Amino acid sequence: MSISIVPDYPNMTIEMIVGEASPIQVVLTSQVTSAPCPRCGTPSTRIRGTYQRRPQELPWGTAAVVLQLTVHRFRCDAPACPQKFFCERLSWVPVYQRRTIACIQRILTMAWEMSASAAQRVAETMGIHVSRSTINRKCQQGLYSLQMGYQRFQQR
Ligand SMILES: [Zn+2]
Repeated sequence: MSISIVPDYPNMTIEMIVGEASPIQVVLTSQVTSAPCPRCGTPSTRIRGTYQRRPQELPWGTAAVVLQLTVHRFRCDAPACPQKFFCERLSWVPVYQRRTIACIQRILTMAWEMSASAAQRVAETMGIHVSRSTINRKCQQGLYSLQMGYQRFQQR
């Protein structure tokens, strides 16, 4: 049985890992060739460019990790849909989030077991950079709502 320290990133190719300085940079490119429109659900294969995301990932040991994601931008062809272009959604980095779900979950677990201030200090020693106000906001939103939001998106 082999164990990998690199998590599985569905539909992504790891292009490069740059580990000379902190944070470690993991460069990933999407291999997705079609995606459903988030507005109307119509599948699209019309890739109209790419865009970059840089979410924070769980640390490797005590080294901070940032992902450099290249994901696709699609065009929706449904004539009545007001969404002309949309960006590919990732199940493990919710849209508009700057951290992976695993990283958010780690932060929330600490925050729920201690105060936001203590969680922020402990997270910093682990290589997770997050402010106390962000922790408070995430606690109010809750990981559950983040995941449910994504599931609602998937069901469209
Ligand atoms: Zn659409």
